[in-house]
Amino acid sequence: MARYNPCMSATSPAPAPTRLTNQTLLMDADDTLWENNIYFEQAIASFISDLDHKTHSPRQVREHLNRCERATIAAQGYGIQSFRRSLVDCFEQLTETRITPERHARILSFTEAISGKEIQLLSGVVETLQHLARRHRLILVTKGDVGEQTDKLERSGLQAFFTAVEVPAEKNAAVYRSVIEQHHCDPSATWMIGNSPKSDINPALAAGLHAVFIPHACTWVLEHEAVDPPSGLTRLLKLDSFPELLAFF
Ligand SMILES: [Mg+2]
Repeated sequence: MARYNPCMSATSPAPAPTRLTNQTLLMDADDTLWENNIYFEQAIASFISDLDHKTHSPRQVREHLNRCERATIAAQGYGIQSFRRSLVDCFEQLTETRITPERHARILSFTEAISGKEIQLLSGVVETLQHLARRHRLILVTKGDVGEQTDKLERSGLQAFFTAVEVPAEKNAAVYRSVIEQHHCDPSATWMIGNSPKSDINPALAAGLHAVFIPHACTWVLEHEAVDPPSGLTRLLKLDSFPELLAFF
């Protein structure tokens, strides 16, 4: 059930949805169009089980891994290579030993299991994009490693729905402003759609765009953040699923 809340005011009655036309819809990919984080969580579970640390609990190992991931991402960005580096760093820091070739090979196998996954589209994505692409301009805006994200898009079979694809290293307000400029977007008719408050919703609102927040039950912990209230002329929708976009666009 869609919760339509254009001004985030709890006292405003929810108006009946009216379909907008000729909008520019910027779309996130990972965990918005297809599954992604569940595979990383599976790899992390394998890593923690394999590490079998004697003094740190699984939760403590996970928290340390989160710290390692923040540091690695700051140094070398997102992606599988970066994730592998974080696992190795986490191992070496918690065991206070250099990693052995055998252990390194096992960590490699955990990360290769992610790369080998088929693209699993979220429910109703193809049908929804078919309708949206007829009435709106769709631009994919997915952060991460350009090669990895481009490869996933090709394997997804969704590229034909998008008039452009942007793969920035990070998604912040400055990046959204540059997307607006590069693609001549009218902010009053442009929406960012995604599952991450930190990367999709808050920076897009800060850049003056509207936003559609579609939470995913397994959103990566490093993407968690409170959703900012929209201000001024920006609007925010929160939907339970991707196909609910068709009620509004
Ligand atoms: Mg995402």
